[in-house]
Amino acid sequence: MNLSSIAIAAFLSSLSSATADTVLGERSTSEDRGIAALKLRGAQEKTAAGSGIEKGRQLKKKQKDACGPETENSCVATTNVRSPSTLVSCLNGTSSFMDTPVTIIEYPDGTDNEFHVNKEVYKLTFPQVDFDDFLEANFNAGIGGPRFPAGIFYAEGQEEVIMAVNCARDAGYKVSPRGRGHSYQGLGSMDGYLVIDLSLMCVPDNFTNTTQNDDHPWLLGGEQKVIGTIKSGSGCTNAVMLAYTAEHFPDDGIYLIGSCPSVGITGYATGGGQGDTTPWVGLGIDDVLSYDIVLYDGTNVTASEKEHSDLYWALRGGGSGFGVITSLTTAVVNTPKPLELEPSSSSSSRFTYVICPYKQTQNEAKKFLERFQDFLVPNLPFDSKKYKDKIRNSSARFGGVGSYSTGGIYLGFIGIFLGSKDEAISTFEKAGLRDPDIFKESESVELEFSSYADVQLFSICNAMSQSNSFWQLWTSATFNVCEDLGIDPDEYCNQKLFGGFGATVHLPNCDPNQASFNLEDVKNVILPAIKAAAIKPQSWFNRPGQQRFAQLSLLEQSYPGGLVFGRLEPDVLLDLANVGVDIFHFAHGAPTVVARDETGYSNREEFTLISFGGAGVNEMEKYEEVASILINKAYGGDSTKLRGFYNYVNPVGTTGGDWRTYYFGDNYERLSEIKAEYDVTNGFGNPVQVEPALSKKAKSGK
Ligand SMILES: Cc1cc2nc3c(=O)[nH]c(=O)nc-3n(C[C@H](O)[C@H](O)[C@H](O)COP(=O)(O)OP(=O)(O)OC[C@H]3O[C@@H](n4cnc5c(N)ncnc54)[C@H](O)[C@@H]3O)c2cc1C
Repeated sequence: MNLSSIAIAAFLSSLSSATADTVLGERSTSEDRGIAALKLRGAQEKTAAGSGIEKGRQLKKKQKDACGPETENSCVATTNVRSPSTLVSCLNGTSSFMDTPVTIIEYPDGTDNEFHVNKEVYKLTFPQVDFDDFLEANFNAGIGGPRFPAGIFYAEGQEEVIMAVNCARDAGYKVSPRGRGHSYQGLGSMDGYLVIDLSLMCVPDNFTNTTQNDDHPWLLGGEQKVIGTIKSGSGCTNAVMLAYTAEHFPDDGIYLIGSCPSVGITGYATGGGQGDTTPWVGLGIDDVLSYDIVLYDGTNVTASEKEHSDLYWALRGGGSGFGVITSLTTAVVNTPKPLELEPSSSSSSRFTYVICPYKQTQNEAKKFLERFQDFLVPNLPFDSKKYKDKIRNSSARFGGVGSYSTGGIYLGFIGIFLGSKDEAISTFEKAGLRDPDIFKESESVELEFSSYADVQLFSICNAMSQSNSFWQLWTSATFNVCEDLGIDPDEYCNQKLFGGFGATVHLPNCDPNQASFNLEDVKNVILPAIKAAAIKPQSWFNRPGQQRFAQLSLLEQSYPGGLVFGRLEPDVLLDLANVGVDIFHFAHGAPTVVARDETGYSNREEFTLISFGGAGVNEMEKYEEVASILINKAYGGDSTKLRGFYNYVNPVGTTGGDWRTYYFGDNYERLSEIKAEYDVTNGFGNPVQVEPALSKKAKSGK
């Protein structure tokens, strides 16, 4: 397995090569397919496209289901959709929002690339008024589609949000806030609800930020500091926040983001949120200091430790559905101090991108798995001082993704180390993770960067640039990504064949495995160009590409999802590795030292999140096989101990606020009370399911 494959894997998330082919019309090579099977990083996407007929059938069904509330009883005969006349007249008012275009995807000015065509939608659309306009606005990157909301409104300010919530409530509609539309279950676009899209409320010029130097209340007992705060609109993306952090905290300020540039931040700020720096800065929810939120009664409140503290507790991990968050204030966290090395580190870099591959033979694999587990989560009480001391200078500095697989698929991890290359090597050596008996040093990589933004952006660019489809899936890039970025394609891009279309794609060369790779070009040209695209909230870089159509082209089913687990016996780990599982984010370290009841998030002790991609039979079988190993060999036959986050047997809409809130564990009762207090069921109403659904066979652990 070469570096290229590893890094592609790190970003392929759960997209199977077969489904990518279908969606993109691409004919990938068998190598690509092998690579795609790795599916290591990011979020799970299912992209199996339905046929045109199936799509039509799904839409019809949705139209039927989308008949409005009981108060709106005049179904339009042709489509069987109730006319939301009260809602339309209330929302449209005197402003003619239905005639007001808004730009949601922007390309660079002044190029002659024929694909650089900005995309506009109307600020307010209803299927009964203009079906095509509605479809244009009804994108959703989630896998729970197709979704068929009652109407879609692009809000551009808090007053508009309040107006829209009041209109929806008075007309008897529930509200579905939509950030950037990446909910796996399509929960930003619930059937029959009014979608309030927040993406235009991301305006970096209106953000405010502070600098300070406070202890962080949640994490490693004060080792981490809050060195600043950013108050941003809620409809921003990972990429916007990263670029903004780079501008305002250029050296060592960390703002947690995940894997995909176009994913919305409010999902992180409410559902959990895991990224490469989670072990140091916590989950996304750990870093939110306050939320401004419009409740279903139309009032706007601030939820923080001091105000509406119950709501604040619930919002941090209890999922969405409490109201429409219009802005949030988030902590920017420091980078750890350098380790004291003997001899001292030869560089002052605080950020190293690492790739660590391991031998896959059974004995070596078992040794690796055991040591890596000890490195991630020491075998000590998770809230003890010893535990904190141990991880503070070791695994809390490393975060990323990986794969436990002995079956020909990559075994190892990839991610960001918060320290120099020497510090990274020394830390992994101490943990026995560079032992030549198990470690494939010749295939390892350590690249130093001078800022958090650069290493994080490199991680994104590296992954996307090695696949010939992921720039086009996760951003609205054209086939010539270098032109999109305004840099010379001949100098800074690799060319790849995009088979199905017979086209060539130009992808920025962020792949250290390519002969043409040049780290200085990456740092001086490619990353600055990406940052410039990232800071513009509606730029092509901040909007998903093919993915945004997924909702309307997918069958109504989802996929096996994933499972999280805590410490396991080495033999059990090896059994899992023999099935082959992908690790999304190593949510170890700091999140595990936060007590379970500190926030609405309930799975602190579980530190490993494994994933299964696609919707094919193989993945379901794999899911059941892994579930069965866990139940049988780790949980003494008790299937309720299994933590699953999404499940293909659940019909769409039967799971929680987002995938991470699929189960609420011990916090469920308190969350339910708070939900009742804030009228969540009537107002937003994402239902909740608390136990993973499994086949009887898997449940019995046989
Ligand atoms: C390609 C991809 C990669 C991903 N990578 C990661 C990752 O690395 N780490 C990780 O932790 N997660 C990851 N995810 C999951 C992602 O963080 C969640 O799905 C997140 O909720 C997406 O937010 P969104 O705004 O894009 O989605 P949306 O579908 O718009 O919203 C998600 C949920 O949040 C609610 N919501 C959105 N905005 C608001 C608001 N302003 N007020 C109230 N509720 C709101 C919606 O109603 C919905 O229930 C990934 C998802 C995808 C598709």
